[in-house]
Amino acid sequence: MNKLQNKVAVITGANSGIGLATAKLFLENGAKVVLAGRRESALKEATTDLEGDFITVVADVSKEEDNTQLIKKTVDKYGNIDILFLNAGIAPVTPTTDITAEHYNEVFDINVKGPILATKEALPFMNDKGSILFTNSIVHQKGFDGLAVYSASKGALRAYARVLTSEVKSRGIRVNSIAPGPIDTPIYGKMGLPQEVVEEMGKGFATQVPLGRFGTSEEIANTALFLASDEASFINGVELEVDGGLSQI
Ligand code: NAD
Repeated sequence: MNKLQNKVAVITGANSGIGLATAKLFLENGAKVVLAGRRESALKEATTDLEGDFITVVADVSKEEDNTQLIKKTVDKYGNIDILFLNAGIAPVTPTTDITAEHYNEVFDINVKGPILATKEALPFMNDKGSILFTNSIVHQKGFDGLAVYSASKGALRAYARVLTSEVKSRGIRVNSIAPGPIDTPIYGKMGLPQEVVEEMGKGFATQVPLGRFGTSEEIANTALFLASDEASFINGVELEVDGGLSQI
């Protein structure tokens, strides 16, 4: 407890799944948290039972102005930023033969452009020795049918994180990525697939994972807490797979 006492953390995609579980854990550990989400109603619903020092900000991460406003509202409320957790993402399924420019733009705007613009806005206000975290995925390390654009977006984000790690080194800011395997979150219901297909896909994933199950949002939140805290003070530039071993077999 209190591993992040008085640290200011911004979390995108904070109204659901991994982002919400992380917001809860960060608050329990004494952080001041800015929960960013695309829709006000979802943010309101998600934060009803949250306790601690937090604000919510409505921001569509694919929009430049929303990223600017997210950081501005954070700084207005809490001053500087210690932890930037860029977690929002989408994973719509599309076979490669059906990929459209619209699909590509949507996925890259949210999964790549969003984190890049948010980082640019946040850096002038980040405290030295701060921590930037990206939610990546193991998908760009292994091939999963139907997720070509999603995989490409996460691969791009990984490449970006490498350059960022080097560019912020003089300030002692650590840049790390978490690469979850299959995690039980609402994202599977948003892939644009019928429920029975999602369930079949889920069973397939679970049998492939060496630990034989999906992970939980809380398991990713624990990883984010560790990487953001001083306990990980010499961990920098890594992409940490949290996938029950799936990427290693
Ligand atoms: P989720 O659907 O519960 O959460 C995704 C969040 O991103 C939601 O809060 C959603 O509102 C937000 N979001 C989407 N588009 C947005 C936009 N334009 N602007 C602002 N917010 C937006 O799913 P999750 O599994 O918690 O996903 C979080 C991250 O984890 C994503 O980056 C995803 O790619 C990654 N991930 C998830 C899994 C998994 O199996 N669940 C595996 C690997 C990586």
